Amino acid sequence: MRTKSYKLQGRMKPRTKKAEFMLSDEEHERITKIPVLQDNNYHMLHDEYFMRQALQEAHTAFEKNEIPVGAVVVVNQRIIARAHNLTELLNDVTAHAEMQAITAAANILGGKYLTDCTLYVTVEPCPMCAGALRWAQLTRLVYGATDEKRGYSRISPHLLHPKTAVTPGVMAEECADLMRLFFARFR
Ligand code: ZN
Repeated sequence: MRTKSYKLQGRMKPRTKKAEFMLSDEEHERITKIPVLQDNNYHMLHDEYFMRQALQEAHTAFEKNEIPVGAVVVVNQRIIARAHNLTELLNDVTAHAEMQAITAAANILGGKYLTDCTLYVTVEPCPMCAGALRWAQLTRLVYGATDEKRGYSRISPHLLHPKTAVTPGVMAEECADLMRLFFARFR
């Protein structure tokens, strides 16, 4: 199976140094073949599909002993960037999954704005990431588990761009379970 590989080019920030985003032909075909229907049921399935991809990233983070948060950026039903939390590996408190995803997607799109993009992330973004997503003018945010302690909505829902549509709670249980499992190790 041939694999498309998106390598970041040009001047890179340290956090994207090792980033490489893989999208197999099969995966691409599966996504683009999803018929565009208008009913809510379809949208729910659609969101679940991409959240599952973000969860895969979160699992990868878990395996690296990173807090298991994963994200994907989707444009026209196609994943253009995948990322997971790398704060330990990069010794960088800003290396959250969303920050990595924003940088990677902008590199691939060749522009700094994420208009027409949907970001799927397994856990509600923190205020830093919400602020970054605001700067990126993200069109739509879909997140899984709510973060009662560190989620942006605890501070203010207005941290996001006023035009960003938000869908919370997609596969919330699965996303939260992974976090619980991770933190249970330290108890
Ligand atoms: Zn964050």
